Amino acid sequence: AKAAGGNRWQWFDPGMDRAADEAARLAADLRQALHRGQIFALYQPIVDLTTETPVGAEILMRWDHPEHGLIPPDIFIPLAERTGTIIELGRWVLAQACRQSAEWTRHFGAAAPRRISVNVSAHQLADPAFLTTVRDILAETGADPTRLMIEVTETAVLNATSAAHQLDALRELGLRVALDDFGTGHSSLSLLLDVPVDVLKVDKSFVSGDYADQAGAIVVRNLISFTDDFGIDAVAEGVETPAQAARLRTAGYHYAQGYLFGRPMTAAAFEALFTPARAA
Ligand code: C2E
Ligand code: CA
Ligand code: CA
Ligand code: CA
Repeated sequence: AKAAGGNRWQWFDPGMDRAADEAARLAADLRQALHRGQIFALYQPIVDLTTETPVGAEILMRWDHPEHGLIPPDIFIPLAERTGTIIELGRWVLAQACRQSAEWTRHFGAAAPRRISVNVSAHQLADPAFLTTVRDILAETGADPTRLMIEVTETAVLNATSAAHQLDALRELGLRVALDDFGTGHSSLSLLLDVPVDVLKVDKSFVSGDYADQAGAIVVRNLISFTDDFGIDAVAEGVETPAQAARLRTAGYHYAQGYLFGRPMTAAAFEALFTPARAA
């Protein structure tokens, strides 16, 4: 949309009107989406780079809209954040991850996927009720908190004043904390000194995206020595080619995620992929 530049006619621009209407309608649809059964979850494997077999998964939300079909999370998550629906959606996806984790523990026993990662938005992190929500969901589902990981972005951490405290409390419950999309925000490495994190997820822009060539390769190499020194695990995101995987292995990465190893998939598909790894 165009910036409001003092043009009093902007309100009568049918194009803008339609865009605003469309956004309002989508926001209203999103509020109903959960109880209409349109929201579901997929799981993308996180692999051990040495064996290229899954050790865990990231749960990713999907919205199947009755008219528009699948709406990507890059559209509906920001919308949910603007309208507050993210609190309910976030609670749902966390509960889904906990139910799945408990289910995999029953199914695979000790060999179950080590961890399910759940994205938590800035609004959830800033919500004073968040910790209680997490505790309640853990109790309801019987999920093992040590098999869960919370993924937060640098922006979320910087925007929630109580973030460090919340993350500490989550870690005391046994969950691990990952800093997502690392390198894309405005933060610096010093954030890692202030905020308790266990895992750093190196953003895909350095691995396969726009910066993957010269500059990205340097970032990728430097981050691994940094995380090693600080005793933090690193996960490289967005691995799409065997060459990228090889480069990461050479740099010393142990964990990665990306289309090369598996797209986001149903829980059943993940189980099928996971089972042979266990036998290997
Ligand atoms: P994210 O947390 O960075 O999740 C990784 C995104 O990268 C996913 O997009 C995944 O499908 C995509 N991806 C994985 N491997 C590759 C690859 O090799 N190449 C490329 N180009 N992309 C890859 P997705 O599922 O569309 O999600 C987009 C974003 O929406 C997520 O980025 C996350 O910020 C947000 N999101 C998704 N589900 C949730 C959720 O349940 N809660 C919250 N708060 N945010 C969510
Ligand atoms: Ca993530
Ligand atoms: Ca990410
Ligand atoms: Ca992202």
